[in-house]
Order: sequence, then structure tokens, then C-alpha cells
Amino acid sequence: MSNRIFLCTCQKCGAPFDFTGNYEKFNAFLDSKNFTCVGGHTESRSPRSFVKVISMSEPVAVLEWKPTEGKNYVDILDSLTARIKGMQIDHLGSGLYIDRRTMKKYDYEEDTKGKRHYFEVPLQQHVKNSA
Ligand SMILES: [Zn+2]
Repeated sequence: MSNRIFLCTCQKCGAPFDFTGNYEKFNAFLDSKNFTCVGGHTESRSPRSFVKVISMSEPVAVLEWKPTEGKNYVDILDSLTARIKGMQIDHLGSGLYIDRRTMKKYDYEEDTKGKRHYFEVPLQQHVKNSA
């Protein structure tokens, strides 16, 4: 797991809240059908219409890191790998990257030695840029 802490505010009532989870989970939350705000109102639209992301932390280090089955790990920061794959890697912030050619996003898990293990963020049903 590469849990990050997303600090957000509600654009309707201004209530601050935070979300802890990986980038995929946060996007799944943003794509929910409705939104229950900590400020006390419930909306029948997706949180994307209301949530403003103030900051996104870097992922919390994983104690005993092991590759997760089914994840596509790519050493995107290795220039040779990037060149062979024809990637156009661009930094989105807080260690999150995008390949501008394929629009695939890459997040990482960090082990306790500080090594970053990058993997491809699985595509969601409706992919939108949240930034
Ligand atoms: Zn609110």
C-alpha cells in the first residue's frame, strides 16, 4: 500500500477534512455517486464537484515491502527504461508521475530504506484528471 494523506476542503461549506488512502482509492472516492460532507450536508453528485484538494502527502513508507501481485512495476525514473519504452515522464507532484504519451500515471511504494518502487496506477472506468 502506498497510503497518502489528502488534505481537502469542501467548496460548498468550507469544512476541512482529510482522506487517507492510496491514489487509486482517492480517485475512486472522487468518482462516488454521492457525497456526504463532514460539514453535515449530503449531495447526490460526485465529490469532484465539491472537494478541493489542498495538498497530497508523499506515500507513507512500507515496513516490509514486497511487490504486490498484479501490479505493474516500472522503474520510470531510470532514464534508460524510460527511453526504451518511449515514455515522456512528467512529475505531477508529491512523487506522482505521468507518462504524457500514454497518459498512464505512476505512483510508488517506498520501503524503509527509502527506495521508491514505482507502479502503474490501474485505469479507472472514467478517467479524469483531478488536478
Ligand atoms: Zn460541505
